[in-house]
This record gives sequence, C-alpha cells and structure tokens, in this order.
Amino acid sequence: MFALMQSTRTQSLHLTVDAATGLKAVIAIHSDRVGPALGGCRYLAYPDDESAMIDAIRLAQGMSYKAALAGLPLGGGKAVIIRNPHVENRAALFEAFGRFIESLEGRYITAIDSGTSTVDMDCIALSTQHVTSTTAAGDPSPHTAMGVFAGIRATSMARLGSDNLEGLRVAVQGLGNVGYALAEQLHAAGAELLVSDYDSGRVQLAMEQFGAHPVASEALISTPCDIFAPCGLGSILNCQSVNQLRCAAVAGSANNQLTNLQAADQLEARGILYAPDYIINSGGLIYVALKHRGEDLGTITAHLARIPLRLTEVFAHAQAEKRSPARVAESLAERLVYQKGV
Ligand code: NAD
Repeated sequence: MFALMQSTRTQSLHLTVDAATGLKAVIAIHSDRVGPALGGCRYLAYPDDESAMIDAIRLAQGMSYKAALAGLPLGGGKAVIIRNPHVENRAALFEAFGRFIESLEGRYITAIDSGTSTVDMDCIALSTQHVTSTTAAGDPSPHTAMGVFAGIRATSMARLGSDNLEGLRVAVQGLGNVGYALAEQLHAAGAELLVSDYDSGRVQLAMEQFGAHPVASEALISTPCDIFAPCGLGSILNCQSVNQLRCAAVAGSANNQLTNLQAADQLEARGILYAPDYIINSGGLIYVALKHRGEDLGTITAHLARIPLRLTEVFAHAQAEKRSPARVAESLAERLVYQKGV
C-alpha cells in the first residue's frame, strides 16, 4: 500500500472500525494543500480490504486532478465504507462514519457516491459538518449528468464535426443516478439509446420512458454506436476491452475508466476520442463544492458551463500534440496539483 501511496503521491490513508455498528471504512487524502480534500463516499462490497484501500487511493488522486482542472480551491479525497451485508442499523453506521470524518478536523469533506444516498449524508451530518449532498443540499448526480451531457456534445463536435445529437447512437453503460439522468437528456436531444444495467428494472424503465434498446451488460461494449458512455463503475477500459469497442468516442461519467494510460494510447491509435473522466464528470464536484460554500444556482450553472470548454481545449491540445486527451489532461492536472501548488 505504501508503494501505491508513493506512486500516486497520496498524502495519507486513514482506517477505522467500529464494533458497535459494524463500520469498516477507509479515507484516502491525496492532498489538502490548497484546501480541504473533498470527495465522495462509496458503500460497496469489495473482494478484500486491500481492494477497498486501492480504490480509495486511486479515486482520491482523481479528485485532486478533478478539482484542479475545474478551478476549485480543493484537494482530493475519497472514502470507502466496506458494505456489510449483516448491518442492522444503516443510520447508526453512517453516523459512526461521521464521527470518523470529524476526527480529521475538516481535512476531508464527504459527499454522495456509488452506494450512498442523501439520507446517508443526513446521518453523517449528525456527527460532523464536513459533509455535502445532504437532503437539504441536494443530490449532485443531476449536475454530474448535465456536465456529462454537455461534454458529450463537445466530444461529438470534436470527433464527428457536429454537436447535434439527433439520431446519434449513444450506448449508456449503467443507469444509476447519473446514467439515468443522462439518458433522459440524450433522449430529449434526439439521440438513439442503447442501454445496459445489472438492474433489469432500470433498463425496463429506460425502455418505457426513452424508447431505449436494451443490450446485455457484457455485450454493450462491443455494440456498434457513435458514443460509448460508461456510467457504471471504473476500470472498464483496458487493452483487451478497448479492442472490443465499436464507437467513435468514449464519454461518460464513471470515475477511473482507464486501467492505465496504455489503454488511452490504444484508444487514440484506434481513432476513438476519449473524454477524460475527471473533466467530463466534474459537474457533481462543482455542485457540492459551490453549494457547500453557499453559492447560488446561477453561479453553479455558470461554473458547470466550463466543462465542455475545458474538454474542447484538451481535445485541441491532444490533436496538436498527437497525444491522447487522457495524457494531455494528466499533464495539465499534474502541473496544477504538484508544480504550481494550485
Ligand atoms: P449508481 O450506483 O447510482 O449507478 C451505477 C449503475 O451502474 C448501477 O445501476 C449499476 O447496476 C450499474 N452498473 C455498474 N457497472 C455496470 C456494468 N459494467 N454494466 C452495466 N451496468 C453497470 O452510481 P452513480 O452515482 O450513477 O455513478 C455512476 C458512476 O459515475 C460512478 O463511477 C461514479 O463514481 C461516477 N460519478 C458519479 C457522480 C455523481 O454525482 N453521482 C459524480 C462523478 C462521478
């Protein structure tokens, strides 16, 4: 774990257990040099404890990059609560997690993420004020979806020469909080939807509401389409899976889509334009950060509008330098996070 912390330049890793509630949690702080480390809290099952720590470390680094590229004075952090199938009192578990956050004295601020809800954030808020996306503050997912939608239009413009999505075939992998809201916007813009989710109820709903075509989860990645939008979990793009893609671009909300930068190079070699995840999915972070600061919706919307501009800028650099947008985004983020200390 120390080697991974060193290679990702992670500042600290915090672990806790709470026998009374069954809480087993990890908080990774990649950096809090320019501001508190803000990042979501996952509540998921992991094959082992080490995988949970690795997930938190990698995601926290992504949050630092995301905040820097979104122009927010924040560091990056992430929390993982290991899902306990036998937990008796979920509310007490999240309240205990709030005490863990409080012990870090404001260095880490939490938010909703995969497997957690605004109600869970309300339970955390009983123990700490370092929490966003409570019921009162609102779920950031619609704002993430809004940013991804605008990002898909920018990606379509860069790769296909038009940001008109009418008739475009978009494959949405995962119809959760973000994926479903994204599908709704894509449908309204006239896109043809191909969808998959492990939860057949979500797929059924998208078929009824948006006329979406269902595709088996394992088959979606190789289904011909214009844009593949990963909105499930990360690590889905590796050298093998990239070869299966039959699309012009990849643009979706999932964090850490690439297993490594070689996968990005392979996308580039295949002529598939990749929208860096921590730029296109930054709408949620922008929403929770500005909401936590007390900004109004107009300010938040104006900040969200920078997402497609930032993407377009990265695509232009990538084209000029004949590099993957993922590498360009990483260079930019590293410059901001490490060298300038922004
Ligand atoms: P969610 O848990 O609400 O939904 C994820 C959905 O994807 C689930 O319905 C799940 O069944 C499905 N899924 C997962 N892997 C799949 C696969 N391989 N094939 C088909 N379906 C699959 O999560 P969410 O809040 O919608 O977030 C989705 C992704 O976007 C996550 O990677 C998350 O980290 C990222 N993200 C979310 C936000 C946000 O505001 N919620 C912000 C930034 C990034």
